[in-house]
Amino acid sequence: MPKIYFLDVTNRDGVQTAKLGLSKLEKTLINIYLNDMGVFQSEFGFPTTRHESLYLQANLELAEMGVLKPIRLEGWIRAITGDVETTFKLVPSIQHLNLSISTSDQMIDGKFQGRKTRDDIISDMVEAVDAAHSHGIKTIGVNAEDASRTDLDYLIKFGLAAKEHGADRLRYCDTLGYDNPFTIYENIKTLAENTGMPIEVHCHGDLGMAVGNSLAGAKGAIDGGQDAYINTTINGIGERAGNADLIATILAVTKSKGFLEKYQLGKAINLSKGWKIARFASYAFGVPIPLNQPGVGANAFAHSSGIHADGVLKDPENYELYSFKELGRGEPRFVETGREIIAGQYSGISGFRHLMGKMEVTFSSKEETQEILELVRYANVESQKPLVEDQLLFIAKYPKIAKKLLTLTPLE
Ligand SMILES: [Zn+2]
Repeated sequence: MPKIYFLDVTNRDGVQTAKLGLSKLEKTLINIYLNDMGVFQSEFGFPTTRHESLYLQANLELAEMGVLKPIRLEGWIRAITGDVETTFKLVPSIQHLNLSISTSDQMIDGKFQGRKTRDDIISDMVEAVDAAHSHGIKTIGVNAEDASRTDLDYLIKFGLAAKEHGADRLRYCDTLGYDNPFTIYENIKTLAENTGMPIEVHCHGDLGMAVGNSLAGAKGAIDGGQDAYINTTINGIGERAGNADLIATILAVTKSKGFLEKYQLGKAINLSKGWKIARFASYAFGVPIPLNQPGVGANAFAHSSGIHADGVLKDPENYELYSFKELGRGEPRFVETGREIIAGQYSGISGFRHLMGKMEVTFSSKEETQEILELVRYANVESQKPLVEDQLLFIAKYPKIAKKLLTLTPLE
């Protein structure tokens, strides 16, 4: 029976969000946390964007070292041969790609404005797929942007052409969040049945249905006989009203009425990392988690009314669908209320040694301390906010990789 996988796109769709961004070290930590959680794949960035090159290379090195394993790291580019060539020039060791092109008549008329026909879209896409294969790519996903507003027969033709040229997955993008659970189910089921390709379900929240649509889309792919790859972002951060939230979607798949009795995950998810990843993304993006966010919001397990409080104390299952412990919540948090020593971009050696000592990190020499401190200063310059413990530990453990992440060389 086909299965459901999670493919997180925070490091691509998430960072495309207007007014928001992540440092390269923050993006790296997100890949590490996604791997810890058991997420199958991370769309880790933009291989044709020059300032991403060293970050992408460094993360591929971490994969090679076994630090980012078994997660699959995949880059997003446009489905044109020029982007494929640039990708292999800038990030030669990349192994997985998604190639994206608009498929709806709205986009063909409104965006390409007569410069491309439906046939041109397919020929651009297959040429790009062929080019990626000629460079030895391992897997390719082909993205139909605005799939929900695309003529279904044409979408099937698009998918079949991709498959014929050896593409591995077809991404159904509900780019504008236009679908509802009923339409996306039917579309994706038909697509799966007629193309015989695993389907990626990529949903946006413009009508507040990203999570529900993801669930319905995944069901459609499986009922159509194919694996489903649900695209998510942490805390639902993404363009406009955002994407399907990672934690909420995992909860919907694993906890909603009867779903897991019929459908299966392809890879076990360690939900107990959920609280940590949501909090880190909130800090890194500088966007608070809404009070009522499923699973990770401050009120997700809060009860005050008499009947509810009494009921949940007698038996949590009276008013809670799942336990806070499953998400890794419940550990007491220690907040410094007195003197604080913080590592910043102008920090000196003695404060830094004190800070690292509190985390039981010691250095073998003054030179080594200086070197790690220098990297920590640069990491602060890049993120413009104090680093969390895991970032400091990462730099101390992988200084060479950290140096690569922090190296930005603009064009001359
Ligand atoms: Zn998107």
